[in-house]
Amino acid sequence: MSATSDQSFRSSAHTTADLVADYLAAVPAGPVWQPMDPAARQALLNAPLPAEGRSLDELLGVIATDVLPAPMGNGHPRFFGWVNSAPAPAGVLATLAASAMNPSSAGGDHADVHLERAVVRWIAELVGFPHPPGGGLLTSGTSMATIVCLAAARGRAAARAGWDVREDGLYGLPPLVGYVTGETHSCVRKAAELLGLGSRQLRTVPADAEGRMDPVALRAAIAEDRAAGRLPFLVVASAGTVNTGVVDRFEPIADLCEAEQLWLHIDGAYGAFGVLDPEIAHRYAGLDRADSIALDPHKWLGVPVDCGCALVRDAEQLRGTFSLVPSYLRDEEAGGLGWFSEYGTEQTRPFRSLKVWATIAHRGRDGIAADIAHCTRLARRLGELVAADPELELLAPVETSITAFRARPAGLDEAALNALNQALPLAVQRRGQVFVTGTVLAGREALRACLLNAATTEADLAVLLAEVRAAATELTTRQ
Ligand SMILES: *Cc1c(COP(=O)(O)O)cnc(C)c1O
Repeated sequence: MSATSDQSFRSSAHTTADLVADYLAAVPAGPVWQPMDPAARQALLNAPLPAEGRSLDELLGVIATDVLPAPMGNGHPRFFGWVNSAPAPAGVLATLAASAMNPSSAGGDHADVHLERAVVRWIAELVGFPHPPGGGLLTSGTSMATIVCLAAARGRAAARAGWDVREDGLYGLPPLVGYVTGETHSCVRKAAELLGLGSRQLRTVPADAEGRMDPVALRAAIAEDRAAGRLPFLVVASAGTVNTGVVDRFEPIADLCEAEQLWLHIDGAYGAFGVLDPEIAHRYAGLDRADSIALDPHKWLGVPVDCGCALVRDAEQLRGTFSLVPSYLRDEEAGGLGWFSEYGTEQTRPFRSLKVWATIAHRGRDGIAADIAHCTRLARRLGELVAADPELELLAPVETSITAFRARPAGLDEAALNALNQALPLAVQRRGQVFVTGTVLAGREALRACLLNAATTEADLAVLLAEVRAAATELTTRQ
């Protein structure tokens, strides 16, 4: 235990609460992001290892002067970059309480473990995915949740081929083949590489003009691989791609997976919670037929980072993939579910469930649904504003809460447009008023605005477009 007295901790905790409340209150009025002052950056980079300790109040002073003034920008209502949300206030408070308890949520009979069972069930209920007891767990993010789900898929496929992948690895087994699209997130490839499947065994299935997986092409690819003696085992569909927010059509893909006995995994990291908006819920039809889904409460729900979630239809498949506890020794407490460490990669696990519980309980299902609908409405509105502006071009239909577009000033050819739009995100970011990031869509440099913050207003959209136009003018007149 540190040499901190109760009294000093209490008083520093009150200071922290004020510091955090002041910080959050000031965010909307400040610049979204600014490049760090070089001296301030060096001070952090080169901070010497302290030989002697300092008081809590001194440390809070450093946090106030050296850390809080240099945020990423994602707490701001005019941050539209990547898929990074503002923290839910309830989640911020819960984080402090959770760290005060500091359990390992690997397993056992303490509050955090039971709360995790509950919030995983809540997440499944929110997105309408079936949830048998034990059919999921919280992870650091979707990258890790994908590894968890694909490991279960690999185990099932190998077992069906008469293989024990846990004992024998993949050596000697014909290649296990998975199917993705050009829009599938890179975490799927990373998982395939780490699981020894090999990224070459991920087939890119042709997609329609919006980037949705083409079920007819998928069927043909499966037949071709079977004929060549390979073992098709996995299809990865997207509930919201990261570039344009497109949702794959799950029903025909699920039909095919059922007929072909393939594992259907859905990447819902960014977009799965969009199903809560009645306006777009129909796009998610068939999501409940997947074998697994990976999603990120630390994205659209605003749970403070980190928090991903893996949901798996067959809980025993998950336990059979990771448990090192012989079945005769399995803990029969907590309904015989055993430890979370039997269902995933981590042993010591953080108390993530309290911030999830607080975030969801604070807004309630209806509040969350209203926040999500607000974001999708604004994204569609942004699409209309872009389409109505002759200097801008909408590059994809707005399906969820991502609007992809580019600047298109008159008189520039495609090469010049690409150069301009590639330079635009940083130019816009440096102006400090809004933060937007870029991507490439069908060979064209694009801006993409991702709406995740219920505090964002239509006025903020006007600022976004004004800033894009201003930065484009700046860049085109400079040459
Ligand atoms: C963010 C994201 C991921 C990766 O999730 P992490 O939480 O960053 O590990 C995967 N897929 C999509 C569609 C995403 O938006």
